[in-house]
Amino acid sequence: MNPELVYIPVPFSELDRIRCNGHDDFGNAVVSRTAGGGEPLRCCLTLARAGDQIALVSHRPMTAGGPYAEVGPVFVHTTDCPVPAADVFPLDFRDRQAVLRPYDVSGQMLDGVVAEPGTSEAELKRLFEDATVDSVQVRNVIAGCWNFTVRRQG
Ligand SMILES: [Zn+2]
Repeated sequence: MNPELVYIPVPFSELDRIRCNGHDDFGNAVVSRTAGGGEPLRCCLTLARAGDQIALVSHRPMTAGGPYAEVGPVFVHTTDCPVPAADVFPLDFRDRQAVLRPYDVSGQMLDGVVAEPGTSEAELKRLFEDATVDSVQVRNVIAGCWNFTVRRQG
């Protein structure tokens, strides 16, 4: 059985707060820069187009807390952008190699996998066949930076 999955970016409420305050929730100033193109954006879950105004800010994707609740750097647009469709794997991330890091409901990390380009969506469905998997974080392979979180719908 394939569970229906949802793909979770930086929440709009947090983006709105960061853009209004001019700093992220960890005190780092929002410093706008011009995208070279291809930067993975965690606001609208797209890759930046050259010329987009973006900033690197800190985000803590794990809402459950606990020792695995890391804070890390993410690129976001500095102004409003479209909220991505929750139930569709982000197209721009489909052909990237990725680390898929599963967590149980208490936020403890389970065994992760490296997904080759084009295989992340199928690997996610396979990981969620394990009932102990509550969420999976999709991350960059080299730097380990968080891209988005995946959960079961409902
Ligand atoms: Zn965006």
